[in-house]
Amino acid sequence: MYVCVRKYIYIYIRICVYVCSSHIVMPDGTWIGWFVNLQVNTFLCRVPQEYIEDRFNLTGLELLVPSFHQTLDAILDLEFDTEYGFNPMDADPELTAQLYGLIHARYILSTRGIEDMCLKYQSGDFGMCPRIYCNGQLVLPVGLSDRIGESHVKVYCPRCRDVYQPHPRCALLDGAMFGSSFPHMFFMQMPHLLPDPPKEQYTPRIYGFKLHNTALLPPPAEANANSVFSNNTDKINTDNIINNSNNNKPSTTIPMVPPTTVKISQNSSPTIRPPMRRFNFTIN
Ligand SMILES: [Zn+2]
Repeated sequence: MYVCVRKYIYIYIRICVYVCSSHIVMPDGTWIGWFVNLQVNTFLCRVPQEYIEDRFNLTGLELLVPSFHQTLDAILDLEFDTEYGFNPMDADPELTAQLYGLIHARYILSTRGIEDMCLKYQSGDFGMCPRIYCNGQLVLPVGLSDRIGESHVKVYCPRCRDVYQPHPRCALLDGAMFGSSFPHMFFMQMPHLLPDPPKEQYTPRIYGFKLHNTALLPPPAEANANSVFSNNTDKINTDNIINNSNNNKPSTTIPMVPPTTVKISQNSSPTIRPPMRRFNFTIN
């Protein structure tokens, strides 16, 4: 009997430790508790009630969200119906999520907010970098814009310092809920967590041989043809004429033979000739 009781107590303690270490927010009947526990909102941390009640932290948001006060009351509602998602405040659910997202973007730049996000980062809530040579580096959420409705959230890899699409489950969150500054502020506050840049880089090979730098460039003939038909045609050929005049040669023959040749003389526009014909410049 005594052994069984000890066993149950041990299991209970293990569950409590797991809940605390994984930073799971248990539902508590509030709108915030319900909202951050939705699977699609895994990237969001819980903004403390007292942070939202401090009106200094909300300065300027009343200009961005319609029905600001009604929406704020819905966020702070302590009697939210978590089973059916019903809000007695009758606030617009989309506006409520928007306002919470804007408050969240400010909170995670504060010292306490960065500590909360650090727990989620270290437990892998935001996922890993998909780049092979980043070796499963943990990532942070970032917005490409600070304004609501412009782009969805992305994830930032501190190793390769690039951004990627997040897990589809959280990909529909608005990027403004995190802002464009968050990961950089995070590593300014937590410099010891900033990883070194990757040492390896992918090398393109064919049958095991590295490709030469010029292997993927267009063929010379194609490059010459492009230069002849580019907008700078007149300038290029005029330069040739000037160089020739400096050498005191009245005329010269250009050995370059593009697929189509162009005859250029002063006071005339370029004329397309059949290919494989040489052409002369005439200097007056
Ligand atoms: Zn990476």
